[in-house]
Amino acid sequence: MNNDDTIVAAGRGLALPMAAGEFAVIENIHGTQVVDAWAVSQADPYEYSAMEHTRSVNSSIFLEKGMAAVSIHRRPMLTMVEDSSPGRHDTLLCPCNAPLYKELRCDGYHRSCTDNFHEALETVGVALPFTPASLNLFMNVPVLADGSVDRQPPASRAGDTVVLRAEMDLLLVLSACPQDITPINGADRTPQDVGVRIVDAWPPGSAR
Ligand SMILES: [Zn+2]
Repeated sequence: MNNDDTIVAAGRGLALPMAAGEFAVIENIHGTQVVDAWAVSQADPYEYSAMEHTRSVNSSIFLEKGMAAVSIHRRPMLTMVEDSSPGRHDTLLCPCNAPLYKELRCDGYHRSCTDNFHEALETVGVALPFTPASLNLFMNVPVLADGSVDRQPPASRAGDTVVLRAEMDLLLVLSACPQDITPINGADRTPQDVGVRIVDAWPPGSAR
C-alpha cells in the first residue's frame, strides 16, 4: 500500500473528483474485496458510466486492460490502463441493494453499494434519482455456456491494482462492497478496506 492512499473503508463508499487525464490507482489491499465503481460527469451528472453501452462498445462482458467504460452517450469515461489482477471485472450484475439483502433474510438495515453510491454523491453535492449499473471491479462472475452466471470469490490477490484514466472531468464513486452473507468478497465473508489514490501520471514519473 502507498502512504498517499485514501482508504475506502470496508463496506463504505467514497466520491473522488478527477480531472480528464488523471489516473485512479485502486489497490485491493487484502486481495478479495469487490469494488463497485461508477463515473459521473462533473459537467452533467446525467452523463454517467453505462454498463450496457460499455459491453456493446467493447464487445465484452468483462472490462479488461485497454478497454474503456463509456457513458450513456457512449463517450469514454474511464479507461483501464493497468491491471495486475487476473482480469475479471464484472459488468453484468447489479450493485447490492436493500431488496437483495431482504431476500437474503437480513433483519433490519444492511449497508449496500447502492446506498454507498448515493451517500458518496451527496458528500459532493450531487443527487441522482436512480442507481446506474456498477462496474464491479475484481468481482468474479463467469458466464457459463448455457447462459447462466456463476458467482465466484474474487481471483485477485492482496496488492492487486487496477489503474483507471479519467477521459473527462468526472466524479469517481467507489464502494467497498458490504456483502458479508455470500462469499462474493472472499470465502471469509468479511468486507475489507480498499486503497485509492489519484495521480497525474502513469506509470509514476512518466511525462503526461
Ligand atoms: Zn455490494
